[in-house]
Amino acid sequence: MNLTFHRKCVLMNYLGMPPMKKQKMKTPTNKNKNYVCLKAFELHTLLTENLIEFCQELKLIASSVMCYCGEPMAFAPRMERSDGYQWRCKKRKLHNIKFSIRAGTWFGKSKISIREILWICYMWVYEYSISSMLHECEHTKQTLVEWCSNCQNACQKILENKRNLIGGSDKLVEFFSCIYQNEKESNSQKWVMCAIEQFSTNVICLVVPNKESNTLLEIFDHYILPGTTVFGQIWDSLRDLSHHDFEYLTVDKEITFHDSVTRKDMDTIDKFRRIVNTSRTGTNHWNNVEYGPELCEYMYRKALSFAPDAYITFLKDLAMIYKPREVVQKKKFQR
Ligand SMILES: [Zn+2]
Repeated sequence: MNLTFHRKCVLMNYLGMPPMKKQKMKTPTNKNKNYVCLKAFELHTLLTENLIEFCQELKLIASSVMCYCGEPMAFAPRMERSDGYQWRCKKRKLHNIKFSIRAGTWFGKSKISIREILWICYMWVYEYSISSMLHECEHTKQTLVEWCSNCQNACQKILENKRNLIGGSDKLVEFFSCIYQNEKESNSQKWVMCAIEQFSTNVICLVVPNKESNTLLEIFDHYILPGTTVFGQIWDSLRDLSHHDFEYLTVDKEITFHDSVTRKDMDTIDKFRRIVNTSRTGTNHWNNVEYGPELCEYMYRKALSFAPDAYITFLKDLAMIYKPREVVQKKKFQR
């Protein structure tokens, strides 16, 4: 990895203590090893022959559901619906509960079959153009655009819900802040602190009330591993961290991080801004870049590019956000 000097930036080593809440590091399971580098034709076979098993394995739909009567529900055929199955409990008299396998899930509010949604997601992950998608399925352009938008919005939810540890010895983490736009809370200014581990799927976006030193220290204490080399545009609060567990390698130097393998700059925000060509007034400061689904999609795709299988990783991340309901409450069951 080369480091060439190009623009104002900070480069520092975080020397703090290990995070208080130790989180279990995810280890890949052998169960999904067949899904690595899943090709389109393999996915079609999988969705035709093992759709339910595939969805349950990735936790996209529930593997068991408990009825409010206390009995586990049966996974029963339901041929009048495209999914082909439903949860059902009729173990007691006057009690015939039916519950959609989509309840709470990523497929929850759609009328499109689960198989087709999974295929559209595949095309989205691998950046098929809309015209290619139109060629590959029977849906309208409007439906496909809506689902691409759903996927983009999901990126933001996924990033904001990730709470994995980032960095470590010899790891490089890009750190920057964005203004958090929330229409529901237009009066209160919030910030998003983004940390992206280079050459890794590790990325977090934390919504915080301010970007003062105390907030930054809390983030480092909880999410950044000691030994991490951090880089990003400097602001005063970040500079104040010099009083704490940080070793400043360089400050206010002109730096660009240059990947010696790909020959590409690794600076996410800078590259993102070039892509979306943001020259709008008020957004030209590095730390004031507009945060939203578009930036999140960009950051998430960047992380996905280091996953063993981008599509399976996306589905697993969706399953963490859109969790299937596993308990039926008395007044909320679906017919
Ligand atoms: Zn029951």
